[in-house]
Amino acid sequence: MHELLLAYEDAKKLVLKHISPLKNEMCPIEKSLGRALSKNILAAYSMPLFDNSAVDGYAVKASDLANASKENPIILKNLGYLSAGETKKIKMVKGECLKIATGAPIPSEADSVVRKEDIKIEKSKIIFTIPIQKSENVRYEGEDIKKGKTIISAGTLIGPAQIAVLATFGFAKVPVRKKPKVSIISTGNELVELEEIPKFGQIRESNRFMLAGMVKQESCELEKMSLVPDIPKILKKEFKEALSSDIVLISGGMSVGDRDYAKKILKELGVKKIFWKIKFKPGKPLFFGNLGKTFVFGIPGNPASSYVIFEEFVRPAIRKLMGRRILEKAMVKAILEDPIPKSYKRLHFMRGKLNEKNGEFHVKPLPFQGSHSIGSLIESNALIRVEPDSPLLPRGEKVDVRPLINEIE
Ligand code: AMP
Ligand code: MG
Repeated sequence: MHELLLAYEDAKKLVLKHISPLKNEMCPIEKSLGRALSKNILAAYSMPLFDNSAVDGYAVKASDLANASKENPIILKNLGYLSAGETKKIKMVKGECLKIATGAPIPSEADSVVRKEDIKIEKSKIIFTIPIQKSENVRYEGEDIKKGKTIISAGTLIGPAQIAVLATFGFAKVPVRKKPKVSIISTGNELVELEEIPKFGQIRESNRFMLAGMVKQESCELEKMSLVPDIPKILKKEFKEALSSDIVLISGGMSVGDRDYAKKILKELGVKKIFWKIKFKPGKPLFFGNLGKTFVFGIPGNPASSYVIFEEFVRPAIRKLMGRRILEKAMVKAILEDPIPKSYKRLHFMRGKLNEKNGEFHVKPLPFQGSHSIGSLIESNALIRVEPDSPLLPRGEKVDVRPLINEIE
């Protein structure tokens, strides 16, 4: 029987179509790192705010020094010292100079600043022996950012550079989208807590912590994390509690095993199925559904499947919820360093090692691609896209690769 599987692109479209960004809120700037701006940020004024000195030196009129040389030293009368932060305005006329600090406003009559290192002082006389170009070492009002310009657009991830700009423009509170609240439930009778020694047939549970790490990379709030055995009553109680989050990640129990209860229980709780099963490897039994504004991903429990599914479906979904402009890292073209001799009926996102040599990307598919492989996770920093029923891909072929946030040796 031919299984009805949803194509990767269609599944992704469905996920993103259903999800819309959360409401706006204001967030203190110190806590804004990793959030997404909810509004365009306009420059309320120009930067720099006033013409100021780029160096520690002497503000001068360049014309006064036009003929300066070692043989023809020019002495200008010093009006004193203006340090950064002083708000007084100083008048200067021909034949005068002003000792000035980096960042201090230059007198409007001055047009350049001679570096402190380039002058000589003899008996408190300021001596200039080289000419200077007009505008040299002056930072002009508005040359950096023009008033009224959109300096950061809505949906941008707030990083340190954005924080610098927001602070400059006085945003003690920053307009952002609310943080998505995420719950993670790992299911499986075979899974034991980290402190336990697995008995024969058991394994330690790892997906909960791995997925939590990925969720934290997106600056979301983790609401609930639990490990639940495949016992319908307990599963139901745990799922019900989790359904108050924006996103619920359920690991395991999504396939066709006798104890794969998750889908049935979600249905009983009113979660509407949007799709189940995709033409994708690893992670074919992916489930996506919703209860109102809560979105549920039923993620196949094999660790590598969970990892890849998060990267390809959950991360973009979270980013959409956060109001991010960029939902995923763009794919890059890379040269295959080893052939890919085998393909599948499903689209395969293979784990691989990506590196850059002489300005080109090269990628090596990992020889072991088992979806249960946790070893492959620490060895891969990229996913190689291999089309369904693809012919053999020889060494040297260009392939599409999704870079991952993963430091490998
Ligand atoms: P399932 O998706 O429940 O059919 O599980 C598929 C495979 O992934 C099984 O070999 C499980 O033991 C393993 N697995 C499921 N959940 C986890 C988990 N949370 N941590 C580690 N391995 C898991
Ligand atoms: Mg299971």
